[in-house]
Amino acid sequence: MTNKSDGLSRRDVLKLAAAGVSAGLAGAAIGIAAQEQGTAQSSWPFELPELPYAQDALEPYIDARTMGIHHGKHHAGYTRKLNAALEGSDLVELSIEDILADLNAVPEDIRRAVRNNGGGYANHSLFWQVMSPDGGGEPSGALAEAISSAFGGFGDFQAEFSAAAGGVFGSGWAWLVADGGALNISTTPNQDTPLMAGKTPILGIDVWEHAYYLHYQNRRADYIAAFFNVINWDKVDELYAAA
Ligand code: MN
Repeated sequence: MTNKSDGLSRRDVLKLAAAGVSAGLAGAAIGIAAQEQGTAQSSWPFELPELPYAQDALEPYIDARTMGIHHGKHHAGYTRKLNAALEGSDLVELSIEDILADLNAVPEDIRRAVRNNGGGYANHSLFWQVMSPDGGGEPSGALAEAISSAFGGFGDFQAEFSAAAGGVFGSGWAWLVADGGALNISTTPNQDTPLMAGKTPILGIDVWEHAYYLHYQNRRADYIAAFFNVINWDKVDELYAAA
């Protein structure tokens, strides 16, 4: 009997096993909830999360064409290549966070592909979530207090975060990271993520040229300033509380 005759490929079987049998009903429910929220899938095969808003929803700060290509081509590409790299490995039951937190456990022949595409998958899944057409302004509550405590005030945080993002040489990301109870700002090259150091990113800005070049060309500083108009502080606060 071939795979085709019973209608289930090996991929389907693994997907069913990952979603239902090994993870159990709770895991399946989490998977459904994650899909509804547009957040990352819990395990292989990873799926491109839906944008939580329309492609043009963040205009004029981030243009629709950039959003469409960024999500539909770049993020989709990371997702596809991550799945291809992991297929047939023992890592298919792990979450992307667990995979990235222990890259030394990834077989050497796929480690670079998993690092680059797994990082790209996770980073963009977070990136769409921390922006909103209703975003901007300043955080409130516990997150506002933590930012004041760590940086002196929101204005100081904004200046330091913007300088970090502007200072990334080449392609990479700037992050607000929860490390234990503390908050700090860091940057990573390429598609590396604070998850690789066991830390939790709660806000990130993509400063790859593909994130801004169509609209802003070389004016990265203008893109960074515009980003502050779409930051979804409610989501960042939620991630901070969970971290
Ligand atoms: Mn990107």
